Amino acid sequence: MNTLRITICPSCGSNKIKKVRRNWSGTFQGRSYTVRSLEFYECPVCAERVYDRQAMRKIEDHSPAFGKPHAKHRPLIAR
Ligand SMILES: [Zn+2]
Repeated sequence: MNTLRITICPSCGSNKIKKVRRNWSGTFQGRSYTVRSLEFYECPVCAERVYDRQAMRKIEDHSPAFGKPHAKHRPLIAR
């Protein structure tokens, strides 16, 4: 697992940045979508948000921008 560990805010340099878990809302082409209990880093000083790989993947999973064409591929059940 490569988990990103952030202790210093990349934007303002504060060490107050910390990992939070909350519902996250984004908008894509006027459509809003929510990712429930997303974990990401948030800086209380400058409101910078940093997403690690797992968070990015969760966002992509929920975003209308990233359709899942392979969802059609259902495994065939042989009987
Ligand atoms: Zn900051």
